[in-house]
Amino acid sequence: MIFRQLFDPASSTYSYLLGDGPGGSGVIVDPVREQAARDLGLIRELGLSVAWIVESHVHADHVTGALDLKEATGGRTVVSQHCGATGFDRLVDDGEKLQFGKESLQVIATPGHTPGSSCFLWRDKLLTGDTLLIGGCGRTDFQGGDAATLYESITRRLFTLPEDTLVYPGHDYRGRRVSTIAEERATNPRLAGVSREQFIEIMNNLKLPAPAHMAEAVPANLRGGAH
Ligand code: FE
Repeated sequence: MIFRQLFDPASSTYSYLLGDGPGGSGVIVDPVREQAARDLGLIRELGLSVAWIVESHVHADHVTGALDLKEATGGRTVVSQHCGATGFDRLVDDGEKLQFGKESLQVIATPGHTPGSSCFLWRDKLLTGDTLLIGGCGRTDFQGGDAATLYESITRRLFTLPEDTLVYPGHDYRGRRVSTIAEERATNPRLAGVSREQFIEIMNNLKLPAPAHMAEAVPANLRGGAH
C-alpha cells in the first residue's frame, strides 16, 4: 500500500497519491498544475501506473495538474457529474468505486462547498477535499455553494463514518496534516455543538475575500485543466 500526502505551498493545497503497492496501480487526487513535475517524479520513482486522476471538485484557488498528468501517464481524469465540467474521461456520482489494482476508492457525494464536491474513502482514510477541513470547512459563498447543503453532507455523510476514520483535507493553512472524524465532531468550531441554523448563520457571514487566482482557475478547471 502506498499513501503520500503532497503539499503545494502557494495554494496550501494537499494532493494525495495512492497505490496498491510499489510497481502497482495508482490514483492521484487533486493534483496542482505547478507541482506536476514533482508528482510525476514520485509516480515514476514508485513505479506506479496511474489509473485515475481525480478531482474533489472544480477548484477556485489553483489550476488542476490533471491534464499534465494525463498526458504524461495515460491516467483517466475523473470528477463528479454534478460539477458541470467538461473534458473529463469519467463523471462519477455517489457510491461509485474507482478501481485501482486490487484496491478501490469510494465516491461519497458531499455537495455544499460546490454542487459537485465529493469525498473519497479508501480503507480508513477519507479524503475530504474542501468539504471538511481540519477545524473548518469549505466556504459556501460562490460557485453554487450552499451552507445548508454542506451541513447535511458533513453531519449525515461524514460524521456517521467510523470515528477513527482519518480525515485528510484538501487544504490546510496552518500546517495540520491529518485529523479524525471523532476529533472533528468534537472540536471543529464550525460544527461541534453548532445547530444547522447556527452553521448557516456562520457560513453566510464569513466575509472572505475571493481567492487570488479564481478568474483563471475556475474556467480552466471546468475544462479539465485545459491550458
Ligand atoms: Fe474549493
